[in-house]
Amino acid sequence: MYLIILGPPGAGKGTQSVLVAEKLGLKHLSTGEILRKAVTEGTELGLKAKEVMDAGNLVSDDIMIGIIKEAISAEDARKGFILDGFPRTLQQAVQLDKIMESLGYDGLKVINITLDDNELIRRMLGRGRKDDSEETIKNRLKVYCEQTAPVREHYKQNTAVFDIYGIGTVNEINSRILEVLGK
Ligand code: ADP
Repeated sequence: MYLIILGPPGAGKGTQSVLVAEKLGLKHLSTGEILRKAVTEGTELGLKAKEVMDAGNLVSDDIMIGIIKEAISAEDARKGFILDGFPRTLQQAVQLDKIMESLGYDGLKVINITLDDNELIRRMLGRGRKDDSEETIKNRLKVYCEQTAPVREHYKQNTAVFDIYGIGTVNEINSRILEVLGK
């Protein structure tokens, strides 16, 4: 099974994708985690990504597509994966379609977590990550509306997209996701 989890920053994509990956035996790939690790380790990627992330902007499509292409081509992703934080732009989605096709992966499903802005802001302020300052949060929401929201419309055209309401306990939301996946 090949899954994408979409939704605004603070929607709980990380929490839910870890649970779904465990329950369904999928490889969990979080671009945010990959980037934060690179920043901590001070790699070339980390040095490039740090300021962009701290401002709440997006790392370039070329870099992100390269990372994902390598990750999903790996043996441990072949049997199934859940992408968390990717694709975040239309260009990333179009390139992902091509990569999946070249690898012979089909049957992609998209989980889209929906939540209102006030709840998102409240959650992110409570989380206290470095990119969770008030100013950066506002920018991340703006970037989401402008660049990531169109990704859902792209998949709506020919992929199964399941909208999941993101208010409730972690377990409730997880049950909603497993139910739409028929698990
Ligand atoms: P959240 O889910 O709260 O938005 P993430 O951990 O997914 O946070 O991402 C944190 C930051 O990492 C983003 O604001 C962005 O700067 C960068 N990032 C993560 N994924 C991508 C991507 N696919 N394309 C570009 N930038 C990305």
